[in-house]
Amino acid sequence: MKKEVLDGVLCEVNNCVYWEKGNRCSADEILVVSQQGHKASNVEETDCQTFERA
Ligand code: SF4
Repeated sequence: MKKEVLDGVLCEVNNCVYWEKGNRCSADEILVVSQQGHKASNVEETDCQTFERA
């Protein structure tokens, strides 16, 4: 059975339990935060908190 994936979310973190072929995410929802609680000033300073190592 094909897993449901989030519309409009593409992710390259392929060692996450929620990662699916085609860079899709099968989590019910994701939470993206600024790194270490600081105000992010570029993309490198954001993190997906829903990540779980596969
Ligand atoms: S939970 Fe986050 S890190 Fe994991 S596949 Fe989804 S978007 Fe990527």
